[in-house]
Amino acid sequence: MRDCLVIGAGAAGLSAGLTLARARRTTLIVDFGRQSNLAASSIGGLLGYDGRPPAEYYAAARAELAAYPSVELARGEIRQASRQEDGTYEVTFADGRLEYARTLLLAPGMDYRYPQVPGLAERWGGDVFHCPFCHGWEVRDRPTAVLAAGAVGLHGAMNLRAYTPDITLLTNGSELSDVQQAQLAAGGVKWDERPLAGLAGEGSRLSAVTFTDGTDLAVSAMLVKAFLYQRSTMAQDLGATVTMSDEHLGVESIVVDRLFRTGVPGLFAAGDAATSVPPSMAAAVASGYLAGATAAVQIAAGY
Ligand SMILES: Cc1cc2nc3c(=O)[nH]c(=O)nc-3n(C[C@H](O)[C@H](O)[C@H](O)COP(=O)(O)OP(=O)(O)OC[C@H]3O[C@@H](n4cnc5c(N)ncnc54)[C@H](O)[C@@H]3O)c2cc1C
Repeated sequence: MRDCLVIGAGAAGLSAGLTLARARRTTLIVDFGRQSNLAASSIGGLLGYDGRPPAEYYAAARAELAAYPSVELARGEIRQASRQEDGTYEVTFADGRLEYARTLLLAPGMDYRYPQVPGLAERWGGDVFHCPFCHGWEVRDRPTAVLAAGAVGLHGAMNLRAYTPDITLLTNGSELSDVQQAQLAAGGVKWDERPLAGLAGEGSRLSAVTFTDGTDLAVSAMLVKAFLYQRSTMAQDLGATVTMSDEHLGVESIVVDRLFRTGVPGLFAAGDAATSVPPSMAAAVASGYLAGATAAVQIAAGY
């Protein structure tokens, strides 16, 4: 029976694990190695680590944790978790192994879903990105497309003007209103409503988008709207509440209070899975720290 079991060893889970380890709490962190930003070549906007590769960041974080004897990292997938009658948690690995803990901290990240356009998946995390704060600097001054319809597309395109003067909003077949067209024109943003056939470029690079009428538009970067979904129903199955917010970056998140408690005794959630603000590494580290500290305090109080 460990003090805490953490599901996920991304920025949130590792940060929670470090906090619990330093509080001398026995902790098992379980992960199957699918941190969401591994597709990107660098992390943008994480103070102290700006512009460096995600894999290096996770290796450095795991090395820091290795110095603490009460924390253990395990490779594996948790398929199921349940709260026992005595208030402790039982988790089941994909291979059937069972582990037990007094508290459970969910940090499983999210499933980022982007538009299904041929050639987009291969460029995701590189020339195709979802977050200007993460990757806008890297593609600054390039001819850039924004792929999103309606008000979201308008907002994304106008916001990108800080990064590049050459922006084309692609609505992929949906129509902009006269008011929206006037706003774009006034902001110096071009638009094209034709349906897309796909993205083109050598290897994983982007050099153009192709329309279904066979013509091309030369662009070397593209901002797309991504929706974030829970990777499993585990949080709901445990009794936590999950809500969908339709902000500019759609997020289906676990509801937590400001100490990252879910409302289910002994169950905490952190990182992308529990964020109500645009997701980022900095927010994941901060929420993991707070969730870990809250769990440590509750365990010390004899939870
Ligand atoms: C392509 C891309 C690029 C990005 N670039 C940036 C950037 O430059 N700067 C920035 O600030 N943010 C960036 N982000 C956002 C940032 O990566 C996330 O906000 C951050 O990784 C969230 O951390 P997390 O720990 O919550 O989740 P994750 O990093 O996704 O980690 C969750 C971990 O949980 C594991 N897991 C899930 N379910 C289970 C289970 N059942 N059993 C075991 N393990 C499980 C997964 O394998 C994964 O390793 C980017 C996101 C994407 C998609």
